[in-house]
Amino acid sequence: MNGSIHSIETMGTVDGPGLRYVVFTAGCPLRCKYCHNPDTWDINNGKTMSVEEILDDFEKYRPYLKNGGITVSGGEPLVQIDFLIALFEEAKKRNIHTCLDTSGATFTKVGKRHEKFVRMIKSIDLVMLDIKHIRVDGYYDLTKGNLNETLDFLDFMSKEETYCDVWVRHVILKGITYKTEYLYELGYLIGGYKNIKAIDVLPYHVMGESKYEAMGLTYPLEGMPPMPKENAVKARKVIEAGIAKRLQEDRNKNK
Ligand code: SF4
Repeated sequence: MNGSIHSIETMGTVDGPGLRYVVFTAGCPLRCKYCHNPDTWDINNGKTMSVEEILDDFEKYRPYLKNGGITVSGGEPLVQIDFLIALFEEAKKRNIHTCLDTSGATFTKVGKRHEKFVRMIKSIDLVMLDIKHIRVDGYYDLTKGNLNETLDFLDFMSKEETYCDVWVRHVILKGITYKTEYLYELGYLIGGYKNIKAIDVLPYHVMGESKYEAMGLTYPLEGMPPMPKENAVKARKVIEAGIAKRLQEDRNKNK
């Protein structure tokens, strides 16, 4: 089985536990205003690589990747779900820790495609789920995507038969996601899921702008200031207050 691969990073430090071999797939249905990698949007903008080629390459780095493993990121990896199934299944046969970095876009609760998710999740140890905005309209405005796909995917991974550990990622942007009510709501949602094991609050930065210029595109957030790192700490506190509220409510219900 072949995939369309944008690039590979052999010593990733921010894409899951430990040091990781990170495969960035080509193709993404979203158009996040803050996307740093618009060159990953087109599925045809990748190099064709087979599962064996990738995993054989991984083996070269394996001795250095103790406590790590393989992460597939993008783009949006789920647009190549058949390739993901083949890659993750083979990786598990080789006893490799597997992680998927995704927005959940294209998840569906019905049909043949859903069955593919059921199969895929069995070979994944950890999903890093990017919840880009906590409101449906805000999500659409920021990404041109559907928040419900993300939340349905999260829900799916909380079920016993399709269980998977999740780390949530959330980018904070001035006036877009960095608002007390939104952060609190995000925390309130997170508090309802026992499979969420960690939360990563990422301050917006402006690294991708030059790629837009090179591609002849206008950067949608031109003039948006980078988010100071200390605001991630503040955002986290609000999210934690939302989580605490949810846990308290759930405890009261179960009394
Ligand atoms: S999901 Fe990722 S690759 Fe796709 S547009 Fe958003 S930030 Fe860019």
